[in-house]
Amino acid sequence: MTPDTPALPPAMPQPAPEAAPEAAPEAAPDRAPRRVRHPLRLRRLEVLAARRLSPSLLRVTLGGAELEGFTSLGFDDHVKLFFPAPGTDPALLPQPGPEGLAFPEGAPRPPMRDYTPRRHDPVAKTLEIDFALHDAGPATAWAMQAAPGQTLLVAGPRGSQIPGEGFDWHLLAGDETALPAISRRLEELPAGTRVVVLAEVAGPADEVPLPSRAALELRWVHRGTAPAGDARPLLAALAALELPPGEGFAWVAAEAQVARALKEALRARGVTWLKAAGYWKAGAPGAHETLSD
Ligand SMILES: Cc1cc2nc3c(=O)[nH]c(=O)nc-3n(C[C@H](O)[C@H](O)[C@H](O)COP(=O)(O)OP(=O)(O)OC[C@H]3O[C@@H](n4cnc5c(N)ncnc54)[C@H](O)[C@@H]3O)c2cc1C
Repeated sequence: MTPDTPALPPAMPQPAPEAAPEAAPEAAPDRAPRRVRHPLRLRRLEVLAARRLSPSLLRVTLGGAELEGFTSLGFDDHVKLFFPAPGTDPALLPQPGPEGLAFPEGAPRPPMRDYTPRRHDPVAKTLEIDFALHDAGPATAWAMQAAPGQTLLVAGPRGSQIPGEGFDWHLLAGDETALPAISRRLEELPAGTRVVVLAEVAGPADEVPLPSRAALELRWVHRGTAPAGDARPLLAALAALELPPGEGFAWVAAEAQVARALKEALRARGVTWLKAAGYWKAGAPGAHETLSD
């Protein structure tokens, strides 16, 4: 940690997992991830604060009575944020049902986007969401005008995947959209755990502090003026990286083609414990691709 790195918050108390683990049969049980389902709820939360963490990252802090019972056990959980047109009749909004969210028939579906619960503090009763800002899109447009007193509709998380344990090292790689999950993972990993981070941002001004008790090797990857969604900067950083010895777990989230390219490069280097996801897709609004678990 650098001297100006902010102090880590105390570990958050979280309820115990409710469901039995679903381990892959061939997997070593301690390294297999566990899935936990949560009752689906749609919450209307209040914006308490909005502030820039960097030119490209904006943190919105949410709160309110409906945050009660919110549970997020996995660092890469996601919630769905809804952006209905102002003045939309609440009766036309989706409602949680047995099959997930039910959308009133005939009503236009409000835009919805996936975001990481960056930090939930059940004592302070706050939920932080970090928005990577880009050119256009309802989520970005909303975040850029967010101000205290506004409300945001938040559904989920429907479930959590709790990563396995016992790895010799961890690799976390991705672009700005992955930074909330990476930051959260770094705060949650036990002290001394070996972890390498490849984090792509436009330039040095976009770097943010990543406090951790883990043994962190942090490599910022600057794409400069190249557009986001080009795999080359992260691929080059990965190629230049000597993977630590032993068995590691690699987690990747980025633009879908970038995540796919990184996944293939990691596989080619013998990494078998791998989770890769396309957190967005160039040219496709609201896309989400899980490439592998
Ligand atoms: C599980 C999961 C968790 C996620 N967590 C976060 C998070 O915590 N913070 C976060 O910022 N994002 C996160 N994302 C990514 C976020 O959902 C997408 O970037 C989303 O598309 C943004 O919505 P939008 O309304 O701003 O843009 P959209 O309307 O979806 O897209 C408009 C245009 O912008 C492009 N675009 C979308 N995202 C980007 C980007 N980051 N950079 C450049 N171009 C882009 C699209 O290709 C499209 O052409 C997550 C995604 C998933 C699947």
